[in-house]
Amino acid sequence: MLLADMGEPAFRARQVADAVWRSDAASWEAVTTLGMRLRAGLAERLRFDTVGDTELRLADDDATEKALHRLSDGRLVESVLMHYPARGERRERNTLCISSQAGCAVGCPFCATGELGFERDLDVAEIVDQVRHARRRLASRGRHLTNLVFMGMGEPLLNLDAVIGAARVLTDPDRFGLGARHVTISTSGVVPGIERLAALRPQWTLAVSLHAARDALRDLLVPLNRRWPVRAVVAAAAGYAAATGRRVSYEYVMIDGLNDTPADAEALARLVAGTGSHVNCIPMNPVAHTPWQASSPERIEAFAGRLRAAGIGVTIRRNRGQEVGAACGQLAAEMSAGPAPAAVARRQERLVAASAAALAGERSVDLAPSGLPAGSTVPAFARPAPRARAVISGPDRRPAAGRRPPGTPRRGSR
Ligand code: SAH
Ligand code: SF4
Repeated sequence: MLLADMGEPAFRARQVADAVWRSDAASWEAVTTLGMRLRAGLAERLRFDTVGDTELRLADDDATEKALHRLSDGRLVESVLMHYPARGERRERNTLCISSQAGCAVGCPFCATGELGFERDLDVAEIVDQVRHARRRLASRGRHLTNLVFMGMGEPLLNLDAVIGAARVLTDPDRFGLGARHVTISTSGVVPGIERLAALRPQWTLAVSLHAARDALRDLLVPLNRRWPVRAVVAAAAGYAAATGRRVSYEYVMIDGLNDTPADAEALARLVAGTGSHVNCIPMNPVAHTPWQASSPERIEAFAGRLRAAGIGVTIRRNRGQEVGAACGQLAAEMSAGPAPAAVARRQERLVAASAAALAGERSVDLAPSGLPAGSTVPAFARPAPRARAVISGPDRRPAAGRRPPGTPRRGSR
């Protein structure tokens, strides 16, 4: 449309998108694979980046770089770049963790993004632009991106059209050319989304955030469990593995005294035994407004040992960037006004009571999962995927309206 207005043929759209997404340029002027007149015309009409204004914070001797991006409507999203130097046979890795939504409707209580509540979905360009931004920073140091994980803010499978569109662009050999196997999509357990993804048979890696093997506890830690219980989630993940031939990994955030007991390890081992999957144990990053702490290294080691004894592959992950608030959503939460102290105290009390009830095996009575379109028979995220489209944002594009699914608490109300 825009190119047509400029008197350019339709095929230019793909050419322009390819040129932009292939290059490390920081402005239209620097995309030298396009003609000068075209560049000048585009610079007048189209913004080059959807994630302008970005604040960077470094940690772990500069091996972790956290970026807080401001989008065109002022919303904040985060991405984290992690550098792993070459070791022995293993080549250097540069992994970028990106956001798929501003905020998140799922509301896991240990997660800073969950506490923000849902703000809005990101579009393809806003997802891809986090990667372009990081790639430019890497290029200036002679490095390149090797791995990409959708583990920043938001639930990727509740914004699946845009996530699939972005993953296709990023793994398209004519554009970003990332290896599909080096792209990981993490979900808190949106079963229809996992099934839809499996039907596409991509080579992307699926990570599933379990955090508890027992429903009563998972109802509390991942409220989506009230809609899709843990067995249904593991069955869907096994379906993904069968359809794609890719091993699924399970994420398990370790919270002291809550989900790290021998009984939890045994329940987890029974749940995932024989599925060929791998478990990542992650010490909980301290997040404001929760009454919980990370499990001690000894407890994590004992937990992992029980899983290994049951024949399950386990990795104990190290937290990166704690001093710059690298738990997803932490920086954005810091920048928001945040709840009043009385609301924080009430929330902590509620969580302490809910933890006790969950440990006693009580299922949550609230069967409407927070933040999801209650009662909709065809949820928005179960729609068939449209073909991926190249999206470049410009001044004529309106930011998506700030939608809040029914039942999502307003920011700061939890
Ligand atoms: N919404 C998706 C992807 C984003 S969250 C999901 O939940 O899988 C990415 C990962 O970070 C998840 O495994 C999530 O549980 C984890 N996470 C969130 N808050 C954390 C914290 N405080 N400490 C450690 N991991 C956390
Ligand atoms: Fe959302 Fe994932 Fe955070 Fe849960 S852990 S609130 S699903 S971003």
